[in-house]
Amino acid sequence: MSKPLRLRSEMAQLPTYKAGKKAAPVDGLTAFKLSSNENPMDPLPGVLDVIAQAATEVHRYPDPLVTELTNALAQRHNVRPECVATGTGSVGVCQQIVQAVAGAGDEIIFAWRSFEAYPIIATIAGATSVQIPLNANNGHDLQAMATAINDRTRLIFVCTPNNPTGTTVSQSEFDHFMKSVPQDVLVVVDEAYVEFNRDESALDGLASMHKYPNVGVLRTFSKAYGLAALRIGFFIGPEEIADAVRKTAVPFGVSNIAQAAAVASLELEDELMKRVDSIVATREWFEQELRSIGIDVPNSQANFVWLGLGERTEAFAAECAAHAVAVRPFSGEGVRITIGEREPLERVLQILKSFQR
Ligand SMILES: *Cc1c(COP(=O)(O)O)cnc(C)c1O
Repeated sequence: MSKPLRLRSEMAQLPTYKAGKKAAPVDGLTAFKLSSNENPMDPLPGVLDVIAQAATEVHRYPDPLVTELTNALAQRHNVRPECVATGTGSVGVCQQIVQAVAGAGDEIIFAWRSFEAYPIIATIAGATSVQIPLNANNGHDLQAMATAINDRTRLIFVCTPNNPTGTTVSQSEFDHFMKSVPQDVLVVVDEAYVEFNRDESALDGLASMHKYPNVGVLRTFSKAYGLAALRIGFFIGPEEIADAVRKTAVPFGVSNIAQAAAVASLELEDELMKRVDSIVATREWFEQELRSIGIDVPNSQANFVWLGLGERTEAFAAECAAHAVAVRPFSGEGVRITIGEREPLERVLQILKSFQR
């Protein structure tokens, strides 16, 4: 009998990645995917042409330092280029950060439920996840997160707006929290959905990065900017961390196509914000509709809404699928629904009305 191949023991704990599903076709209905927080709109004007142009260079390795985008981001956010590091999506950057700061025996603190990738990335690094349950309002329990800090803590993720609940951490809560964080522990503010935030009192990651020597920010071109397939995200923060992120990167991971599309998109911020405004308007309409039929949802500052359906989660997701709408169920907890077009949301509202009884 052959022996099984030997893998690291951590591999047994890792779930197989479950991406948001596409809706299966249903007769007579347009299918919609509301399961991955994607932007349903086309790339910004001219960006497809830039992509086509960049594609003529694919026989060459791209710039390993992603210089043009790094400089553009530094300029846009008023920081030195040394403080900026890019990667293959902000998930890629997140992994690069974890690889740089945490290994076996080290702890990474984050809220739970929050972004699916955190525990996976921690496990791959051999580090230990310390998951702090969300509070009764589906927000970060920063008090409990502060209490969890010890000598083994290397990194704390603060996801705001939080995926999948859409809640934000306020600046004042964060400032209070930072009093409990030792200066040699890195705090990464994951702002994947920051463009959709309309809460003025919410934590401003970049301002906080200037205020504290141990705070950095993660951002992405995948959500508001609509470049999810190109895999491009970035970190802005302490120079030694940005430097470490460059060291832990997969060489040439960011393609010239991704870089060119990101640079072009950055120049179209006004156009982008118009689109984001329309998504925010749809979110506000949808939340109001939900409340009008008696469904309480946390106030979302992202491009999705969280329905804490508990035990009815899977049944509701199945009902949506039967109407050609893919939502994102978290079994036994709730459903995350991406905001984009109105048509599928109208359908979801109809389903909820009968599902209620
Ligand atoms: C989607 C998401 C990301 C980033 O995804 P990339 O496509 O890898 O840039 C990061 N953090 C959170 C919380 C997200 O929801």
